[in-house]
Amino acid sequence: MKKVNGLLSPGFINCHCHLELSHMKGMIEEHTGLLKFVNQVVRQRNTHPEQIPTAIEQAEATMLKNGIVAVGDICNTTDTLFQKAKRKLYYHNFIEVIGFEPAQAAENFQTYKKVYDDYQQVFHPRQLSLTPHAPYSVSTPLWKLLSDFPGNHLLSIHNQETADEDEWFRSGAGGFKDLYERLQLQQAPVMPSGKTSLQTYGAYLKREQQLLFIHNVFTTAADIQYAKSRFPAAFWCLCPNANYYISNLLPDIPMFIEQQASLVLGTDSLASNYDLNIWSELLRIQKHFPQLTIDQMLPWATINGARALKIDHLYGSFEKGKKPGVVQVAGNEITRIY
Ligand SMILES: [Zn+2]
Repeated sequence: MKKVNGLLSPGFINCHCHLELSHMKGMIEEHTGLLKFVNQVVRQRNTHPEQIPTAIEQAEATMLKNGIVAVGDICNTTDTLFQKAKRKLYYHNFIEVIGFEPAQAAENFQTYKKVYDDYQQVFHPRQLSLTPHAPYSVSTPLWKLLSDFPGNHLLSIHNQETADEDEWFRSGAGGFKDLYERLQLQQAPVMPSGKTSLQTYGAYLKREQQLLFIHNVFTTAADIQYAKSRFPAAFWCLCPNANYYISNLLPDIPMFIEQQASLVLGTDSLASNYDLNIWSELLRIQKHFPQLTIDQMLPWATINGARALKIDHLYGSFEKGKKPGVVQVAGNEITRIY
């Protein structure tokens, strides 16, 4: 038998990426906080449209090199479709819906439904969802349209990424109050409820909805228990490098483990990361929580991710009948063996 250095792992699953933002690498300043970050993405994402296709192609090649075999990818546009059609990686495409003004919910829905329809030309509906962006950027009637959309067997949502989010839902104050005023909305997208963000929008979704909560920097044990009772098959996606880049804060990961939350990993986009590399995400976690071992975290990067994207019949573990890919990690050198 041939001996290998380091460890052999099934291919990594990246549960949260925005491949279409790959041209924004290095454009946005670090540690400014979420509200400023999102503002910069909106302002700058179209400054060099000619760079978008090449950046997408290179970013996908980077993921392949880093041992990633499947991706949960957020799409506001069809920019990535040309590359995904080459089928070099498995993708679940979350067509992401944003719409602040309640009176415009139907219009907002139609805008993104068109993007969804374009993806349907290339992808089977099981690899597609029409998904909410975040609790603060989707109006209540738009939530209803998304919750009722028949193709939405799996959803993803940017959850509790900033303290301002819960502040709005609990008391109607903070950064989102200012933002809604600046946008001169006729009505706030969602009304404060006195509860946390998750414990408010959870009621808009169908019970047992399969979903991925992304970021979760301010999620509490009570939020996890609430989600467990309503959405027992939910997964919690950690994007530690992006959290570090944007706000220099990480979720309380040991608390998630204590609460027996199902954890997975994501890189987020190159607008808020230095690389698209799941192994680097594990190393970031270890830097902040040295008590966590690679053995403990490796399932988050592999089998849990495959379960979250509903592809564990093919990916995520070395089992008969699967084609999970084989990745060697020696030191921090990643080699894709198969
Ligand atoms: Zn994201």
